[in-house]
Amino acid sequence: MTARVIDGTQLAKESRDRTTERVTAFRSAHGRTPGLATVLVGDDPAGGVYVRRKRKAAAEAGLADFHHHLPGDVTEAHVAGLLDELADDSRVSGILLQLPLPAGLDRHALVDRIPVGKDVDGLTTANQGLLARGLPGLRPCTPAGVITMLDSAGVSLDGAEAVVVGRSELVGHPAAELLLRRGATVTIAHSRTRDLAGVTRRADVLIAAAGVPGLIGPGHVKPGAAVIDVGIHRTEQGLTGDVAFAEVSQVAGWITPVPGGVGPMTIATLLANTIAAAEDTVASTTN
Ligand code: NAD
Repeated sequence: MTARVIDGTQLAKESRDRTTERVTAFRSAHGRTPGLATVLVGDDPAGGVYVRRKRKAAAEAGLADFHHHLPGDVTEAHVAGLLDELADDSRVSGILLQLPLPAGLDRHALVDRIPVGKDVDGLTTANQGLLARGLPGLRPCTPAGVITMLDSAGVSLDGAEAVVVGRSELVGHPAAELLLRRGATVTIAHSRTRDLAGVTRRADVLIAAAGVPGLIGPGHVKPGAAVIDVGIHRTEQGLTGDVAFAEVSQVAGWITPVPGGVGPMTIATLLANTIAAAEDTVASTTN
């Protein structure tokens, strides 16, 4: 079998085009431009690259750009003060605090200063609670993008066996919640899982989000499964993921490439969350 490739670049383009249309409609209806505020603390090179990409994509969708780059030795109180200002700024529809933060800053305390309606990364305790309860809210971008990719490929989730490798707050755990809400029978595997291949081979839908290059090989995959590779690793040969793409393509039914898979969908979902946040603010102030 040769797996069908789920093209994240194309899906992201379609999603971004829809967001651009919504931004244009919002501007004509309300006479102002919705905006995304990005906050980068310190000089983590990968964080800098991601923020630049997100800002560029946001500008292309017509969103206003409010960017703040703070030095790595900034105090927690200073970051908190900036987040509070952005929270009160009506021009800012969404706030993204780029992670990881430098050592010494309390990520949870800072993320939780973002109001739930502007939390376009879906990482506040409040939004994660809404997700756990299955209530409406802004969903974390990478897991939400993964679900969009599975849906676009026509992969059935209701009743499917899904295995998520990784239990992080950012990716693995919310991905498992979203799959559960869609009716999948979900297993979360992680660094302490015994016999990883034995667990992953049960999966009709396998999400690899361990951050270990090439962790998932053909022996980890049930024939015909949908394999979504969230991992991103910079190597001398270029970007690779957690899945051995060429070998697993011979076994899986669907597969996402790296690059050109989950990464572009994550950014597209951030933009979709930002326009949704802007629309929701208007809806909640006019009701
Ligand atoms: P993380 O380090 O916070 O979490 C990794 C998880 O994988 C942990 O829960 C750990 O228990 C598990 N794990 C580690 N080694 C394992 C092993 N050998 N077997 C089974 N489980 C193992 O990482 P994260 O933030 O969740 O990110 C995971 C990967 O996804 C990274 O490569 C990251 O760069 C990538 N990522 C990509 C995007 C994107 O847009 N494509 C977004 C976020 C993260």
